[in-house]
Amino acid sequence: MILDGSVNNLVDCLERLRWILWGFKAGGILDWEYHPCGPEVEAQVEPPAKTDLCSPPLARSPAGGFSTQSSVRIDPGIAVNPKSADALRPPSSDISRVSLELSGCTRCRLHSGRTNLVFGEGAARSGLVFVGEGPGGDEDRQGRPFVGRAGKLLDKMILAIGFERAEVYICNVVKCRPPENRAPLPDEVAACSPFLFRQIEALAPKVICALGLSAAQTLLGSSRPMSQLRGEIRFWRGIPVVCTYHPAYLLRSPSQKAAAWQDLKEVLKLL
Ligand code: URA
Repeated sequence: MILDGSVNNLVDCLERLRWILWGFKAGGILDWEYHPCGPEVEAQVEPPAKTDLCSPPLARSPAGGFSTQSSVRIDPGIAVNPKSADALRPPSSDISRVSLELSGCTRCRLHSGRTNLVFGEGAARSGLVFVGEGPGGDEDRQGRPFVGRAGKLLDKMILAIGFERAEVYICNVVKCRPPENRAPLPDEVAACSPFLFRQIEALAPKVICALGLSAAQTLLGSSRPMSQLRGEIRFWRGIPVVCTYHPAYLLRSPSQKAAAWQDLKEVLKLL
C-alpha cells in the first residue's frame, strides 16, 4: 500500500516535471516577449473591499507568493492530458445555448460600438479556462478572444504550462469591446457576467485562471487590488480560481512575469 502511494507520487512528480520542462522548452518566462510602454495600471492599489464574497484562501505564504507547502493535494487520477480527445471536444450544447442567447445582444451600451461579439473559444473539456477583461480592437474585428499582442503573450503563457491554445478555453468578462479599451463599467459587468458565469458552469473546468483585475474581481465578487487577490487560491462556486496579471499588463511591466509564472505553475498543480 505504502509502496503504491510512493509510486503514484513519483509518477505524479515526473508528470509535473515533464510539463514544467516542456514549459521551459517552449520559452518559460524567458521567452515571453515584452515591449515596455505605458503606466503600470494593474498594480494600482485600490480601496479595500466593501463586500468581498470570495472564499477564504486555501493557502497563504508569508512572502506573498503561493505557499510552497502544497496548497492543493494533486490527485494523479484527475490530471488532464491536454492531448486527449476529451480535451479537444468542441463546446457542449449548453454553452452553445448561452452563445445563442447572447447573439445580437443589446443589454448594455457596449453593443453600439462592437463589430463582433466575442463569446470565447477553445476546448470545452480541457479543465482550464482563462478569463480576460474584454475584447480589444483585434478581437472586435475578428470576433475571437486574445488575438492581438496580449493574446500572443497569452499563447506563450499557455504553451509554457504545456498546453496548446486550442486545448484550453479562453473568454472574457464582457463580450463586446469597451471604447478605447477602457475597463468595463460596473453596469456593463453586471449585464454580461451572468453569461460568463453560465459559460463557466457549462464548461465545468477544474481550474479558472483570472487574467487581470476585472476578471479576478468579477469572479470573486471582490474589489481588492490584484496584489491581494493573487498568490492565494480562491474559489468560484467551488472551482479553484488562480488570479494573475493580465498579459497586456505584463507587456508593460515585464518585471511581473516572474510572479505570473508562479501563478501559472499553481494552475498546473491544480490540474
Ligand atoms: N484583452 C482581454 O482582456 N481580452 C481579450 O480578448 C483581448 C485583450
